[in-house]
Amino acid sequence: MYDVKSKKAAEFISSEEVRSTLEYAEHVKNDKAVVDGILAKAREAKGLSHREAAVLLACNNKDTVNEIYDLAFDIKQQFYGNRIVLFAPLYLSNHCVNGCLYCPYHYGSDMVRKKLSQDEIHAETIALQNMGHKRLAIECGEDPVNNPIEYILESIDTIYGVKHKNGSIRRVNVNIAATTIENYQKLRDAGIGTYILFQETYEKQGYERLHPKGPKHNFAYHTEAMDRAMLGGIDDVGLGVLFGLENYAYEFAALLMHAEHLEACFGVGPHTISVPRVKPAQGVDPHAFDGSISDELFEKIAACIRIAVPYTGMIISTRESQTVREKLLRAGVSQVSGASRTSVGGYDEKTIDDEDTRQFVVSDTRSLDDVIKWLIDLGYVPSFCTACYREGRTGDRFMELCKNKQILNCCHPNALMTLKEYLVDYAAPQTQAAGEKLIEKELYSIPKEKVRTIVRKNLINIQSGQRDFYF
Ligand code: SAM
Repeated sequence: MYDVKSKKAAEFISSEEVRSTLEYAEHVKNDKAVVDGILAKAREAKGLSHREAAVLLACNNKDTVNEIYDLAFDIKQQFYGNRIVLFAPLYLSNHCVNGCLYCPYHYGSDMVRKKLSQDEIHAETIALQNMGHKRLAIECGEDPVNNPIEYILESIDTIYGVKHKNGSIRRVNVNIAATTIENYQKLRDAGIGTYILFQETYEKQGYERLHPKGPKHNFAYHTEAMDRAMLGGIDDVGLGVLFGLENYAYEFAALLMHAEHLEACFGVGPHTISVPRVKPAQGVDPHAFDGSISDELFEKIAACIRIAVPYTGMIISTRESQTVREKLLRAGVSQVSGASRTSVGGYDEKTIDDEDTRQFVVSDTRSLDDVIKWLIDLGYVPSFCTACYREGRTGDRFMELCKNKQILNCCHPNALMTLKEYLVDYAAPQTQAAGEKLIEKELYSIPKEKVRTIVRKNLINIQSGQRDFYF
């Protein structure tokens, strides 16, 4: 039944295989020889199979858990250095025909419905640019009448077309419902970055119960979406589970099986993995679901994902508090959102920021500048880089560079230059001072003198108003 290369969800995420993995993990989790063998393999930073990673997640031995955290941090450093990529979500429309029980958008809820016009999207984009954002994730409910693919494509076009002062959105990631190969081709042609789709839960029965109606009810169609996206030519896809709905260990193993499936079939694993947890929302009590997890366990899950899939970008959103985000950064997260609004039209003062259109409550409500300063103070380099996608380093080309740890040679200089852009154009004085100091220090970690010289020159040019220097 289990076939990693099958195109059928029931086979590449075989529930028998997930259950047998969890039984195996429980059975061997105290077997020192087995656990030591897995840790030794993990140290090679080439990833772990879902079975091996499930064993680590099941381990409660304090020394093993500490080693898991150390390994996760170390692996993140090896692949992504101390850079943290910034982005913001942009909610386009909350019209939705699905019945997702955890989401206030669900059909029939008394949520105020709103869909942004292109003028409003223009205004939202300017507001986001004025904060310093360069990378967005557009979010939308599923509604073929109100939010057809043409609306999404037009919105992407609008966003890319806004050039305000020194600002521009250089990468638009897209989080919309599962769709057809044809529509994925259209999204690719529109120049999207990553196509993101959260599985919500991999447990089929739970999935069907949580999605009682609408197109999203179809488990196989949803689970096979990334295959269609890849066939449609999108080679950067982002996986995620909505933790808190169902059994976390099941989700964890299945998520890794999904990553293995994409790698086996397309030679490219997930560009990103998100780890959202279900949060309070209008008419939604997170405790109503079966799978709530403690902050501690959440951190361990993130660390085990980092170890199992070293090359993937890992995303934590403002659903989580500053404290939890800080812990997750140590567990291997490489991308964070900042100053997010989950309402439709939440950024521009002129657009109605109606709290009633919020998808869920965010815990980290700090400004982007505060988030940047926080990252700098923690020793990270905030990065607004979008160069890989613009230079065609996507899919297998990105993966090869990333797995060989060569991506660092582009990312680090680009991170410093895009941080410099941010400091010059948007930062508060204190952030500016801290950022300049950081850039000066980080310049020395660029190994090649020739590259260092170019970066120095570009930094001077950026200071005097020039833009767009990338490796
Ligand atoms: N309509 C698309 C879909 O169905 O995949 C896009 C999804 S929605 C705008 C983005 C994500 O928000 C969902 O995939 C879900 O995981 C998450 N979400 C929904 N309700 C949530 C809640 N109460 N707390 C946290 N995340 C939630």
